[in-house]
Amino acid sequence: MRIRVGHLYPEYLNIYADRGNIAVLSARARVRGHELDVQAIGMGDAVPTVDLFYVGGGQDREQELVAHDLAAKSGPLREAVEAGAAFLAVCGGYQLLGRSYRDVAGVDLPGVGLLPLHTVAGERRMIGDVLLDCAWAGETLAGFENHAGRTILDEGAEPLGRVVSGFGNDGESGFEGCRYKRVYGTYLHGPLLPRNPWFADRLLEEALAHAGVEARLEPLPDELEREAHAVSSARARSRGGRF
Ligand code: GLN
Repeated sequence: MRIRVGHLYPEYLNIYADRGNIAVLSARARVRGHELDVQAIGMGDAVPTVDLFYVGGGQDREQELVAHDLAAKSGPLREAVEAGAAFLAVCGGYQLLGRSYRDVAGVDLPGVGLLPLHTVAGERRMIGDVLLDCAWAGETLAGFENHAGRTILDEGAEPLGRVVSGFGNDGESGFEGCRYKRVYGTYLHGPLLPRNPWFADRLLEEALAHAGVEARLEPLPDELEREAHAVSSARARSRGGRF
């Protein structure tokens, strides 16, 4: 099966090697006999039909460069998500999937409005290892955060997880990230998928479901991945509380 992936603005939003998430998806798909067909979606490009969208993180400057172009793509992106396409958005990309982002300079950037949230930059950066409890999946996610933006979820919005250790969306609510249908937004990068293989497989399964194949993927040994997850969670736990 060919899994079609649309990578939004790879030249602009790729902080902390967020592109590595695509490499993980590609490798895990290949072992199961599927091929990832990744196409870049850049400035002024039409939104192609894909099974999975991906957007990485970037600083305010890069976000400013892409925000208006991305907002102009919001119609087709929303239609694709309602039709079951999967979407992973990391950090700066996550912020831009909400309604708006007010950056450190006080500039208001428009968002896609795909996720029920908005973000306002604060003065203090929230940096460090993070551990999340994703009760909805019976799993945990380990990663690294570095953001000034405080993301506020609307009432009733589903977070990606509860913060066990770290700051999360705003350092106060105890929530991290947001999910809606097959869309996942998160501050975790570093990148996120190498140390959280269950999440990579979930995205692949959802992308495959969109492509017409409903099936669980065969588990992989994931020894190194499990070790990376353990090291990362231990670092997050030893970091202790929040602000
Ligand atoms: N500009 C955003 C912030 O600092 C996103 C940063 C990032 O992607 N690392 O909040």
